[in-house]
Amino acid sequence: MTTFAQRAAAILPGGVNSPVRAWNGVGGEPVPIASARGAWVTDANGREYVDMVGSWGPAILGHAHPTVVQAVQEAAARGLSFGATTVREVELAEEIRARYAPAERVRLVSTGTEATMTAIRLARGATGRDVIVKFAGLYHGHSDSLLVAAGSGLATAGVPDSAGVTRGTAADTIVLPYGDENALTDAFAEHGPRIAAVITEAAPANMGTVTPPLGFNRLIATLCRNEGAVFVVDEVLTGFRAGPAGYWGIERDADLATGVDPWQPDLVTFGKVIGGGMPVAALGGRADLMEQLAPLGPVYQAGTLSGNPVAVAAGLATMRLLTDDVYAGLSRTADALATGVSDILTEAGVRHAVGRAGTLFSVFLGLAQAPVTFEQAAAQDTAAFGRLFHALHESGVHLPPSAFETWFVSHQHGHVEIEHVLDAVRAWANSETAH
Ligand code: PMP
Repeated sequence: MTTFAQRAAAILPGGVNSPVRAWNGVGGEPVPIASARGAWVTDANGREYVDMVGSWGPAILGHAHPTVVQAVQEAAARGLSFGATTVREVELAEEIRARYAPAERVRLVSTGTEATMTAIRLARGATGRDVIVKFAGLYHGHSDSLLVAAGSGLATAGVPDSAGVTRGTAADTIVLPYGDENALTDAFAEHGPRIAAVITEAAPANMGTVTPPLGFNRLIATLCRNEGAVFVVDEVLTGFRAGPAGYWGIERDADLATGVDPWQPDLVTFGKVIGGGMPVAALGGRADLMEQLAPLGPVYQAGTLSGNPVAVAAGLATMRLLTDDVYAGLSRTADALATGVSDILTEAGVRHAVGRAGTLFSVFLGLAQAPVTFEQAAAQDTAAFGRLFHALHESGVHLPPSAFETWFVSHQHGHVEIEHVLDAVRAWANSETAH
């Protein structure tokens, strides 16, 4: 009898429509997911799992939130797509700016990849320069210039550079170790007048979760300003999830609390949460830069389904439900899980470190210290992670199927779910150290 995985692999390359969905990083065959509600997903065999993937970020309110589902149903009944501006897409863009002031103007797109790709084109168009600086192990979607030394599925596969990216494109991308102030300063000293943009994740979350070293984002902002380069802050994953104003907001609040002027991104990208599970992403930023986009300016960008009314309905309903209380709850859940897992592993004698950025966290097995660079993250024990993944899966907990991913919590992860995850981790840790 053919398994589902074999049937899928006979039509979809690798059996998937996006590489991280395959269990290449942990081994074994994924079972298709049939449905999801709240903090739980149900597979096609009817087995339920506490979901720590959350659709890789969007499911911040939990799956199938009734208000979001209703908004989508009502929008669908009014027509699926018009190819013209609607009131709600203006409202969603306003909602983004109200929470994230550097997004003075917003363009909605459908994927994070489009948002970062457009940011790079806009930076190049605005500066008339070619060179992009990115950091090893950070992921910004799959446009050519950003598929060099990338995180996420590329880190899992151990092939950080994609085939099919021309030598010329790769040559225009300078890759630096994350958090290395000297490497960054040196790159600007050597290439400053050729640098169009520096792109970074507000907090890296595609090589596991990494806390940005204090002052690193500010240093990038300062160097970019001094050299006339564009600072692109990728908040596709962290935006409206790490905290109410993304990871930038966390650093802004810390600066304001100590009387320091916050640093500012020139351009910022969003995705995931702003679509509430539907394909919505956005590019935002300084008005003078954003107004260089077509139809106002010479930098072209477009999309048949950009600002799609059904997708925007999901995003808008989600954003409007994201109150300070929700973020306080997410924080408590992340604390309980991150601390709980860590305590259990320590007690069982399993060496590990926890990476943290606002409500985001991940567990690095085999490391004594939370990593900052990709080299450090790559030294984790991925085989042990594979064992943890499968043991938790058996116990009804669905972790991201890779050691290089963030663990996602939702507003629906309550006491029951937290205890379920911690019990499963405890059982694994005890069996791991028993032999
Ligand atoms: N940037 C970051 C930081 C991301 O995490 C991702 C997706 N995981 C992307 C960009 C690309 O987004 P998408 O998959 O929607 O193209």
